[in-house]
Amino acid sequence: MYAVSSPNLPYVVAKFGGTSVADFDAMNNCADIILANTDVRVVVLSASSGVTNLLVALASGCDDNKRESYLKQIRNIQYAIIERLNEADIIREEIDRLLENIATLSETSSLTTSEALTDELVSHGEVMSTLLFVELLRQRNTDAEWFDIRRIMRTNDNFGQAEPDTRHLHTSAIEHLQPRLHNTIVITQGFIGREEKGRTTTLGRGGSDYTAALLGEALGLQRVDIWTDVPGIYTTDPRVAPSAKRITKIAFDEAAEMATFGAKVLHPATLLPAVRCGIPVFVGSSKDPQAGGTLVCDKTENPPRFRALALRRKQTLLTLHSLKMLHARGFLAEVFTLLSRHHISVDLITTSEVSIALTLDTTGSTSTNGSLLTNALLTELSTLCRVEVEEDLALVAIIGNKLSQAKGLGKEIFGALESFNIRMISYGASSHNVCLLVPGKDAESIIQTLHRNLFEI
Ligand code: ADP
Ligand code: ASP
Ligand code: MG
Repeated sequence: MYAVSSPNLPYVVAKFGGTSVADFDAMNNCADIILANTDVRVVVLSASSGVTNLLVALASGCDDNKRESYLKQIRNIQYAIIERLNEADIIREEIDRLLENIATLSETSSLTTSEALTDELVSHGEVMSTLLFVELLRQRNTDAEWFDIRRIMRTNDNFGQAEPDTRHLHTSAIEHLQPRLHNTIVITQGFIGREEKGRTTTLGRGGSDYTAALLGEALGLQRVDIWTDVPGIYTTDPRVAPSAKRITKIAFDEAAEMATFGAKVLHPATLLPAVRCGIPVFVGSSKDPQAGGTLVCDKTENPPRFRALALRRKQTLLTLHSLKMLHARGFLAEVFTLLSRHHISVDLITTSEVSIALTLDTTGSTSTNGSLLTNALLTELSTLCRVEVEEDLALVAIIGNKLSQAKGLGKEIFGALESFNIRMISYGASSHNVCLLVPGKDAESIIQTLHRNLFEI
């Protein structure tokens, strides 16, 4: 880790997510935001909404009909933007070249898929949206420069969920990016990077938020603005509980907890760089910038006991039974060594005398390998113990402050949920959360019920 300096450049990095660059009108709203604030000098974009999902589908190998259909959908999304640009011949040629590349790579992946190929294919989404956006800004008489983030975003080769080298990013951003900021607005890609051998990598789904925060840190900027499709961070996903309320100011650790437990509005790693160098992060709606938003910063006055509810779907519970555990040592170590060898990260864990229950973190990667539970892993585990697998579960996290010191917490939470089955509870490791593993089909009702009982009284 490099020594982080405090913010020293008076500029802002603004990140616009997929829906914010979904089409020409949405892109125009982003341009309005940028032009309204002369401090915005670095702009990080996601791929236009839908494009990454289509590219991931192409990368996972599909039949010719599907392949043609996905390619056509991607072309239509990008062409709909080109058609609204004036003098679009040059940009059309560039986009056509990239579309051809996508077609060729997807042909290869219909024969053999690989994580490196997936990342290469998927990166085209961000490359296309940034090229189109630069053109749109130029047509609005704004001097903007397209910058390939892979020049500075060096990562390891963990394709699908690569980890950036922050030290390298710092020196290369200062060398290659900083000098440009005084004269122009730099438009660059979120989510993508490059490993040592020059192959493209990605930082995990939703990773553009992380890119923006990393650039804010590396360049010592004043603020990271995350423009999305909601005017801020809410007490829970407003799509799940429409009565959710906006949180106008929230501390880094509370927001990080929300992101970790599934609040998609921020990628889970986004706040790491922000905390390291103390840059505030603002979250607002690109469609309605006047609506204000949420400021994530160092501290807030009187943080409430219950701050938010987060939901993570598609959870898998593994229960491992073994009599070897009884009064023995080393069983847990054996299990964790094995899981680590299979690159599995464990999320929640509870133990009893002869069994362990654990959930696996399945979020984030663009990996085409849908399930983390490979046959090889299950076979190896079954040599140690009897294994039970339950799928279609969801993780509900109640996020708050000083929860471990609160009295009557159990009654408040579980009283509200008496009509639901709760499969596993994790509480006590952090004073910031209580986590419940519940059947996936009940997850939304549980969020709504908890929201009514903990936030609306
Ligand atoms: P973008 O494409 O801009 O990165 P995302 O779809 O990744 O946008 O994130 C925005 C979405 O996050 C919202 O539309 C909302 O449904 C969801 N979301 C989940 N939890 C929250 C929350 N606590 N507050 C606001 N939005 C949330
Ligand atoms: N385009 C990528 C995704 O859809 C990254 C991002 O949007 O942040 O996951
Ligand atoms: Mg996102």
